[in-house]
Amino acid sequence: METDCIFCKIVEGKIPSRKVFEDDEVLAFHDINPLAAVHFMVIPKKHIASLSDAGPEDAAVLGKILTLAARLAREQGSPDGFRTIVNTGKIGRQDVYHLHVHIIGGPNPLPRMIAKE
Ligand code: AMP
Ligand code: ZN
Repeated sequence: METDCIFCKIVEGKIPSRKVFEDDEVLAFHDINPLAAVHFMVIPKKHIASLSDAGPEDAAVLGKILTLAARLAREQGSPDGFRTIVNTGKIGRQDVYHLHVHIIGGPNPLPRMIAKE
């Protein structure tokens, strides 16, 4: 755990979240500032700062996150598909440095891919 990481604090229950799914390795919770009707994130409970910091030892948990995505999206009301975004590093406009996979769905998520300010 990283003491200054807000997603580690969410994992530890020190910051509240609207939980979608949890097991021993991963947590899914709704984005506090949703960009579409369905917008949640799936994260490893282990602190991995970004995709650039993930190593071979993280392959299993990253695979689990991707294979959970469709099931959770369906359960959250996006059965016909969704967008999956992993912002990485400065160029990738990553704001929170705890690896997270955005699942963005609903009837018409992000009609045009957006660039953040
Ligand atoms: P990124 O730009 O990919 O690093 O995205 C970070 C995301 O985390 C943004 O979409 C924020 O709205 C979201 N976020 C930040 N703080 C919280 C929080 N406390 N609970 C839920 N989502 C959050
Ligand atoms: Zn963290």
